[in-house]
Amino acid sequence: MQDQFGRRIEYLRISVTDRCNFRCQYCMPLEGLPWLPKQEILRYEEITEIVRQLAPLGLRRLRITGGEPTIRPQLATLISQLRAIPGIEDIALSTNGVKLPELAPALAAAGLDRVNISADSLRPERVVQIARRNLDFDLVRAARAAQDAGIGPIKINVVVMRGINDDEIADFAALTRENPWHVRFIELMPVGELRELTWEHVVPTDEVLSRVRVLGDIVPDDGPARGNGPAVYYRFPGAAGTVGVITPMTHTYCERCNRVRLTADGRLRTCLFGDHEVLLRDALRNGEPLAPLFVQALAEKPKEHELLQMRVGGLRALSQVGG
Ligand code: SAM
Ligand code: SF4
Repeated sequence: MQDQFGRRIEYLRISVTDRCNFRCQYCMPLEGLPWLPKQEILRYEEITEIVRQLAPLGLRRLRITGGEPTIRPQLATLISQLRAIPGIEDIALSTNGVKLPELAPALAAAGLDRVNISADSLRPERVVQIARRNLDFDLVRAARAAQDAGIGPIKINVVVMRGINDDEIADFAALTRENPWHVRFIELMPVGELRELTWEHVVPTDEVLSRVRVLGDIVPDDGPARGNGPAVYYRFPGAAGTVGVITPMTHTYCERCNRVRLTADGRLRTCLFGDHEVLLRDALRNGEPLAPLFVQALAEKPKEHELLQMRVGGLRALSQVGG
């Protein structure tokens, strides 16, 4: 499947809930958001049916996200249903990791291939300060649980915020020396209705990399972590893992974009920051075929987003579109 600009679209990010057990400062207001009513949220069978209809058009890779996907009950059931669809080669999960120690074995048994864990601090008191919930999260414990269950590669996403966690850049990078983990530093996107974090909190990638180099030289790495995503990777010579940077604010990847998104209430969004979407849920519930809607959505996928112009299409928080 190609869109109107010849980009091959084979990657679907599926949000299974708009709710979360965290309230990360950069993502969700403390009081939460107006949650979707339950009847509007796709059932697992409905998500599976959408993927079953889209796989023959060239869909190959899936990522389960949210909100926080692991707070939706029986997530392993969805993974095993998706795993059984012919053509689906890779299933990944994006999670804050709180429930990984408990869920990793079942998720792995259901067929989960890989995981991205979001973690913005290695210090317990600071995790609570950033996530604004005390759920006893420990990154190393979560990543080891995934690793022990055989899920991999393990990627760790760190949103860098000046004055909040930028003094931990070297500590995160150091984890990659001994562990086969891929730590990716993400530029903060001061989008939506978040008022607490602004452009002043954005730490440019060059500065992130210079703080990594305090530990020693790094060399560009084009190994398996690279994939088709937007991260650029480096490695300390001889290290087990890699250090990556993702720069949504200072660079755009739109010309290489290979993905579309399915919101928890069944809207297909063709751009993270654009307004453009096609409602699949009603067609599905009316028994109509979805392929024509998918084709239409791709024909209308925008060339690029307008994040740099701060036009973000009514987006209130990344949790509403799956990040
Ligand atoms: N709850 C899961 C998690 O935290 O990984 C999945 C959903 S979360 C919306 C997906 C990703 O978006 C996370 O890695 C999070 O750090 C990132 N994110 C959310 N808001 C962001 C922002 N304003 N700037 C940069 N990254 C953001
Ligand atoms: Fe929840 Fe993920 Fe948003 Fe944090 S980034 S509030 S964990 S959805």
